Amino acid sequence: MKTEIMLATNNEGKLQEFRDILSPLGYLVYSPKDLNLDFDPIENGKDFRENALIKAKAASKIADFPVIADDSGLCIHDLNGFPGLTTARYLKEMGSLDGVLRDIGSRLPPDSKREATFECTICLIEHKGNKPLFFEGHCPGILLKEKRGGHGFGYDPIFHSLEHDLDFGTASEEEKNKVSHRGKALAKLALYLAI
Ligand code: IMP
Repeated sequence: MKTEIMLATNNEGKLQEFRDILSPLGYLVYSPKDLNLDFDPIENGKDFRENALIKAKAASKIADFPVIADDSGLCIHDLNGFPGLTTARYLKEMGSLDGVLRDIGSRLPPDSKREATFECTICLIEHKGNKPLFFEGHCPGILLKEKRGGHGFGYDPIFHSLEHDLDFGTASEEEKNKVSHRGKALAKLALYLAI
């Protein structure tokens, strides 16, 4: 029998990546939408860990399953980690990845190597009132100057992973999961769940 778990997100891209990794391990991953639950907590934490905790706690109040939440973002080295916690909002404000590329180009020094790291923190609350557990992953790379491919979600088409020399916009899910921030955090979560 499958173990039911809720992922505290409205982001279909994230949901797909969690399902890809947790389904073969026997988990049935629901989103709040699948369960007809309203989920829109205020993410006002000071880092990815605090935001993941805010989301997991909010989800754990409304779901009767173990819950997991992911907070993630892109941190550009020459911009002191921007957009970081505001990664989702920044893309919305810019309207498109082309808009992001234009704006970032105007902020970066001309000699920038465009180094960037994707960060991910997953928070697990197994049962209501349980101590939250955290699993982290990061993925070093380069912010591309133009889009390559259309795979994945969010910033994938403008990110090149330095591990395995991989463009996220053309990589398969499997290739991306091996090196991505979320893939690494999920591998730690999967190991914990398997024990
Ligand atoms: P949040 O964790 O809901 O605050 O959203 C983080 C945002 O970062 C997402 O909405 C995406 O725009 C971006 N992001 C996080 N992980 C990835 C990824 O694996 N690929 C592309 N974009 C990502």
